[in-house]
Amino acid sequence: MRQVKQIYGARPTHWVGDGFQVQPLFSHGDGRIDTDPFLMLDYAAPMEFKPNTAHPRGVGQHPHKGFETVTIACQGEVAHRDSSGGGGIIREGDVQWMTAGNGIIHEEFHSPAFSERGGQFEMVQLWVNLPAIHKTTPAGYQHLANAEIPVIDLPDQAGTVRLIAGELDGRAGAAKTFSPINVWEVELQADAETSLSVPENHNLLMVVLRGEVRLNHQQEAKEGNLVTFENGSGSVALEATHGKAAKLLLLSGVPIREPIAAYGPFVMNTDAEIRQAIHDFNAGKFGLIGG
Ligand code: MN
Repeated sequence: MRQVKQIYGARPTHWVGDGFQVQPLFSHGDGRIDTDPFLMLDYAAPMEFKPNTAHPRGVGQHPHKGFETVTIACQGEVAHRDSSGGGGIIREGDVQWMTAGNGIIHEEFHSPAFSERGGQFEMVQLWVNLPAIHKTTPAGYQHLANAEIPVIDLPDQAGTVRLIAGELDGRAGAAKTFSPINVWEVELQADAETSLSVPENHNLLMVVLRGEVRLNHQQEAKEGNLVTFENGSGSVALEATHGKAAKLLLLSGVPIREPIAAYGPFVMNTDAEIRQAIHDFNAGKFGLIGG
């Protein structure tokens, strides 16, 4: 059995631009939790937005370099454009897997259609680190439409696992990744129980997005909690408690174990590389949106 190492409580929310009110469920910036190969996870919990035609809510042009951003649209829609020529609408259930790699500039707004009609908005943004040898890979992105993401039924109708990345029961997830990782969206029916396992050499984390979950018949985690696990083999028993369905993200991966030098949207290995990234960005080497 994979033992729980620690459960971390929900954190205060903050706004990213004027479109995303997020709780940082973990961040490499605080340096105290080993989430390698994942850097950060911001959760925009369900929130009602009024119809708005004045201006699109969101975040204007900004750069990234040295890692990947994964945006999961749970409710609502995000419109995206970037300097690699990419662009499109991330609709409910879709996932955007953007490789910042050697440098990208992008913008993230509520889609025009969502802005006009308003409604519930819920989003996850996960940052996945790149191994040093892939930090200079060309920028690009994968649009993973809801219909292309495999959904696996858990035994005894306990729920489902949406395989955004990785592998489960011999099936491959939707995303191509640069290092071995799993990103699974797990939904458990009320009071249902299941067990999940990942390879022994993976670091394992879970974040609870909805409901309450009992882990290994012992500890309980609730909405906004981050759960870290000890290294080792074996499975984790999960049970949705208190008569409610639960939803969580299981994140696991082989840790990269390389130094991290980070400055805002740049995550490299050394301070010299960060200075170079800032220089390259200011010199216009990340390209232009639509240019
Ligand atoms: Mn961004």
